[in-house]
Amino acid sequence: MFEKILIANRGEIALRVVRACREMGIKSVAVHSTADADAMHVRMADEAVCIGPNPSSQSYLSFPSIISACEITGAQAIHPGYGFLSENAAFVQAVEDHGLTFIGPSAEHIRQMGDKITAKDTAKILGIPVVPGSAGGVPDLGTAKRVAAEMGYPVIIKATAGGGGRGMKVAKSEKEIETAFLTARSEAKAAFGNDEVYMEKYLQKPRHIEIQVFGDGMGKGVHLGERDCSLQRRHQKVFEEAPGPCITPEERARIGKICADAIGKMGYSGAGTIEFLYEDGEFYFIEMNTRLQVEHPVTESIFGQDLVREQIRVAAGLGLSFTQDDLKINGHSIEVRINAERLPNFAPCPGKITQYHAPGGLGVRMDSALYDGYRIPPYYDSLIGKLIVHGRDRPEALARLKRALGELIVDGIDTTVPLFHALLEEPDVLSGNYNIHWLEKWLEANLH
Ligand code: ADP
Repeated sequence: MFEKILIANRGEIALRVVRACREMGIKSVAVHSTADADAMHVRMADEAVCIGPNPSSQSYLSFPSIISACEITGAQAIHPGYGFLSENAAFVQAVEDHGLTFIGPSAEHIRQMGDKITAKDTAKILGIPVVPGSAGGVPDLGTAKRVAAEMGYPVIIKATAGGGGRGMKVAKSEKEIETAFLTARSEAKAAFGNDEVYMEKYLQKPRHIEIQVFGDGMGKGVHLGERDCSLQRRHQKVFEEAPGPCITPEERARIGKICADAIGKMGYSGAGTIEFLYEDGEFYFIEMNTRLQVEHPVTESIFGQDLVREQIRVAAGLGLSFTQDDLKINGHSIEVRINAERLPNFAPCPGKITQYHAPGGLGVRMDSALYDGYRIPPYYDSLIGKLIVHGRDRPEALARLKRALGELIVDGIDTTVPLFHALLEEPDVLSGNYNIHWLEKWLEANLH
C-alpha cells in the first residue's frame, strides 16, 4: 500500500480523498494555488504544497508543478479527484513516466473513452446498447442533413471531444440544422480545440441513468447499480438519487451485468461510470466517465462502501474489498449540489462566508470545504457543497433532505439552496416522475 498520496484537486473532493487516506493510514499531500492558501483541503491534509498562481491553467492543471510536488514530498501516487486532470491521458502518461502511480485507469482507457466516437464504437463492440446516430464524425453540413433525414428529426449534434454539457445543439427540423451544426462546431472548437462533431437521435423524454462500475485491474468487473441524474440544468446535474425511482431489480441486474462484463473484458482498472439515456424500458449508452463522479456518495450510501478506498486499493494492486455478491442495496439516497450562484440566472456568486452551519443527524452527510469566514475565490467551479441523505426508502430520504436543508446555514453569499426547497414541494419530484427536460421546463415556468 502507498504511504503517501498527493491529491491533485481542491474543494470538497480534495477533502473527500484526505478523509479516505486518513482512515487507511496513508499520509496525504494537498496542493493549492495562491488563491487557495486558506482552503480547508490545505488545512486538513498532512502536508501542503503551493503549486502556482490563481488560474488553474498555471496550478491545478500544471503537470510539472504537480509532479514536482510529488517528488518534493515523496508522494508515491496521485489521486486526481474529478475535473481538472482526472481524464487527461497525457497527464497519466507523465505521472507513469516519473515512476509514480495514477489512481485511476490507464492512459489508454482514458483516451479510448475521452473521444466520444471511439467510446461509442467500443461500447458497441462490448455489447452495450448505444443511441442511434452517425457512424463516426460528421464532416460537413451536407452530411449532417443526409444523416438527419435518414434518422429523422429531432437530432442532437455533439462535440467528439465534449464534456460538461458544452458543444451540444439540438435541431428539431431541417430548418434548424445549419445553425445547430455550425454553432456546435464553433463551440466545440472554442471549448475543446477540436471542432469534430457527431450526431445522435435526440430522445424526447429520457431519463439519465448511469451505472457505477469498478474494474479490479485483474480482469474482473463489478457494478454498483444505477444513479438517476435526470434533474439537469443545461445538461448539468443538480439532483441525483440511487437507486433510480423507475428501475426494477431485473433491469438493474441486466444492464449492470452488461456493464460489469464490459469492464472486465476491457481489463479496466478503478472506478468508472457508464452513462445511459433510458426511455421506454431501453438503455442507450451516451458516454463513459473514467473517474470518480461528483455524485458518487449516493452509491456509497446505499451500498455502505467507500469508493475512494476502493480506487486506492485497486491502484495499489490489492483489488477490490468486495465481490458482486457482497453488494446489496440498502434504502435510498439523494444528493443535491449546492452552488455559489444567484437565482434566477445562476450567476456565479463568490465571496466571503459570514456564517456556515452544516446539517447533521441520522442519515445526513455534508461534503463541503466551507467554513466560517472562508472566502470563495472567483477562479474555480461554483460547487461549494453536496448534501447527501440516506433513508430506509425514498419518502424517508425526501423528508430527511427537507429537514437537513432547513438546518443548513450558508450566509454571506447566494446559493442554489432555495431551488431545492422549491423542488421538494413539487409533486413530480416527490413521486420521481421526471425526465431530463423536466427541470428546464420548470425553471422556465417558475423562475423567469
Ligand atoms: P457531456 O459529456 O457534455 O456531459 P453527455 O453525452 O454525457 O455530454 O450528455 C449530457 C446530457 O445531454 C445528457 O445527460 C442528456 O441530458 C443530454 N443528451 C445527450 N445526448 C442526448 C440525446 N441523444 N438525446 C437527448 N438528450 C441528450
